[in-house]
Amino acid sequence: MKLPYAEPYKIKVVEPVYRSTREEREKWIKETRYNLFGLRSDRVFIDLLTDSGTGAMSHYQWSEIMLGDESYAGSLSYFKLKEVINNLLGMPHFIPAHQGRAAENVLFSATIKEGDIVPGNSHFDTTKGHIEFRRAVAVDCTIDESFNTELYHPFKGNIDPEKLETVFKKYPADKIPMCIVTLTCNTSGGQPVSMQNIKDVSALCKKYNVPVIFDAARFAENAYFIKTREEGYSDKSIKEIVGEMFSYADGATMSSKKDAIVNIGGFLAMRNEDLFKKASTYCIMFEGYLTYGGLAGRDLGALAQGLMEGTEFDYLEARIGQVEYLGEKLKSYNIPIQQPTGGHAVFVDAKKFLPNVPKEQYQAQTLAVELYLEGGVRGVEIGTILADRDPETRENRYPALELLRLAIPRRVYTNNHMDYIAASLANVYEKRESINKGFKITYEAPIMRHFTVKLERV
Ligand SMILES: *Cc1c(COP(=O)(O)O)cnc(C)c1O
Repeated sequence: MKLPYAEPYKIKVVEPVYRSTREEREKWIKETRYNLFGLRSDRVFIDLLTDSGTGAMSHYQWSEIMLGDESYAGSLSYFKLKEVINNLLGMPHFIPAHQGRAAENVLFSATIKEGDIVPGNSHFDTTKGHIEFRRAVAVDCTIDESFNTELYHPFKGNIDPEKLETVFKKYPADKIPMCIVTLTCNTSGGQPVSMQNIKDVSALCKKYNVPVIFDAARFAENAYFIKTREEGYSDKSIKEIVGEMFSYADGATMSSKKDAIVNIGGFLAMRNEDLFKKASTYCIMFEGYLTYGGLAGRDLGALAQGLMEGTEFDYLEARIGQVEYLGEKLKSYNIPIQQPTGGHAVFVDAKKFLPNVPKEQYQAQTLAVELYLEGGVRGVEIGTILADRDPETRENRYPALELLRLAIPRRVYTNNHMDYIAASLANVYEKRESINKGFKITYEAPIMRHFTVKLERV
């Protein structure tokens, strides 16, 4: 028989986790005003809040922590990372940053001004935040298929070239500083973008003289999907596919806390030397000198090693295989999820799961709280609270999808944990008819409210 995938590593260090009771969780979640970000981590049994910075480093990465060169300028760890980025992504210039949003801040400070238009595929929340903070507008050009959770489409992260061209025709090029292609598309469910789409978008951008910038947090997972789903790529290595993907981009921002499997880190990479010089000034202002950018030398070394490990096929097969395993398990209990499952997370369709909760009472947040109460599992709302208010009208924005995201940390949990998560959610699903009330907001911040929002039961 064909051998199944298995993790290409074994476990050397373990971290005990506490299994709380439902009574304890009732008390704790009420104390945090029903905001899962407010929970102390030892009050969570399985933490699927995010896959960001929560991965397990390899012993090679831990070795890099010891080898880190902490020189203020000219750190050898910086040059190690520069070489990896150059070889892997083919980008001649790079600037380290302490995480993805810091890279966005540096790049956007150099490129985006008030009144600008920034098209892309469902911009990530910090990306959108940084765009709107500059009084510019993020325009979502994702394909329509992406918003139908039941429809199978291999590349639901794709940009619709027609929607993109409409933006290019409507606004002059000097109002469009870039087109952002998010790989994989986090907001629409960790969904990949095909190589063909990257190519088409890049050609269209070239025609209208608009730079293509990748939001590359999960570029390796995106490459895995290209290899396994797109014709003509099955014989290519992940690193070859990554090289081709980036050949169509002018630059990239990267949250290394994702596919580079480090606990902190990010960077900005680009081809254009003038842009590099402009961005360098903002790096020095916001992040630090150019050879450390807000990170310790050891972080740069672990990041370089993580980029190499994160682009190995066997690792990606086990990683994405585990996400798919959880998705299949949930489907076997008839739980409505975004299909196909994404690279880093399973997205539960909260509108379908809890149809009796009005959308004004935050369906996905309600589901997130119920799952925590049931099993101590912490997921995250990707719905109305995250979508925030319209910056002009200050009205709630109701997104097309109301999702509960279960993000799987890299190399951290076993498939027994996946079984436990699925059983917890199945128990909530069984009593879904009786769940007909959600929450109302009692406090919210003016921007990115989901992190600190306070709620009370309706
Ligand atoms: C996480 C993420 C970011 C922001 O990165 P941080 O490291 O959290 O600041 C930007 N874009 C995408 C797609 C992400 O997933």
